[in-house]
Amino acid sequence: MDSIHITTPHRSYPIHFGALAPKLQFKGKVLVVSNSRVGGLYLDFLLPKISAPEICICIIEDGEHYKTFESVQRILETAFLHRLDRKSTMIALGGGVVGDIVGFAAGIFMRGIDFVQIPTTLLAQVDASIGGKTGINNVFGKNLIGLFHQPASVHIDPFFLHTLPAREFAAGVAEIIKMAVTFDASFFEWLWEHHLSLETQDSLLTALRGAISIKQRVVCQDEKEQGLRAALNYGHTFGHVIEKESGYGHYLHGEAVSMGIVMVNALACKHGCLTTSEAERICTLLQSYNLPTHYKILNKQQFYHSLFLDKKTANNKIKFILPNSIGNVLFYDKFTYEEIMNVLEQFCDS
Ligand code: NAD
Repeated sequence: MDSIHITTPHRSYPIHFGALAPKLQFKGKVLVVSNSRVGGLYLDFLLPKISAPEICICIIEDGEHYKTFESVQRILETAFLHRLDRKSTMIALGGGVVGDIVGFAAGIFMRGIDFVQIPTTLLAQVDASIGGKTGINNVFGKNLIGLFHQPASVHIDPFFLHTLPAREFAAGVAEIIKMAVTFDASFFEWLWEHHLSLETQDSLLTALRGAISIKQRVVCQDEKEQGLRAALNYGHTFGHVIEKESGYGHYLHGEAVSMGIVMVNALACKHGCLTTSEAERICTLLQSYNLPTHYKILNKQQFYHSLFLDKKTANNKIKFILPNSIGNVLFYDKFTYEEIMNVLEQFCDS
């Protein structure tokens, strides 16, 4: 098995690639958390691989709707009932939702215990499981409550992806495209030439490695998102509003990011840092995975105001992440109200 290391001021940990190790060893108790769907598919596969003094299980409901305090509460109660202590470990078995919730629960249980990520969606394997961002949603927006808590290790096994619905797979590809556009022009060209699927394992592994290496580079330089790391939120400022407006769960996160990328690209074209032909290429690549690229805005004013809930907003200015050609980014917070509204107008037609 092959691995990449993440080193931050707080922790250094491995991201293992390939078939899950035959034994995962723990000195303390282990709480495995999964959801009803992934648990049903993979708990029997995972449990025999865990070696620990005691293993307990917590199953939460499946879906973004359940990325809530109630789910965190359920995990914490299970942890207390089984008398987990500061030497215990939580394992997140599932997609980005399970990973974010478990990371948060592990981060606040007894002021922080270890957790291990075993991501089972493409999106979680290339993005969500790496870098220690954890959190939950509330009525005000997505991921507004959370903390940075780095995992003790991450295990990326493409075997899990075989049961993933095609739509979920494509949503993961949206995040891979996002990383290429923001940080690596040659990776973008490679993606342009290679269509990713489960049938082309070699290409898939190359893409996983490419995306994870970008994430590793970024997280090692800027763990707490003081600068560079925010670039990985390319497409998210609009994407989060789309997810909230349409009701969490209507669009997959990666689908919302895909539409958000197209919207922010329109701003970048206005600003002159992206050409229309580059924007079209990005859009074409997203569409080649059947990802949605047009969101119809019903209420421009309301959409505009929702943009301010973004965590990158400071002093009432939204900091947009714009591609600076393909392979680079820049941050820009000087768009006027009229400029933003002009771009939103383009998305008001059917
Ligand atoms: P998800 O966790 O909801 O998983 C998608 C669906 O696929 C779920 O129904 C899940 O049960 C199912 N599933 C998972 N693995 C499966 C498998 N192997 N076979 C069959 N079904 C499977 O969604 P996601 O796209 O993985 O993650 C989205 C979440 O990740 C969002 O909440 C987003 O905010 C978060 N996220 C976090 C970060 C971060 O840095 N922490 C980065 C990106 C996204």
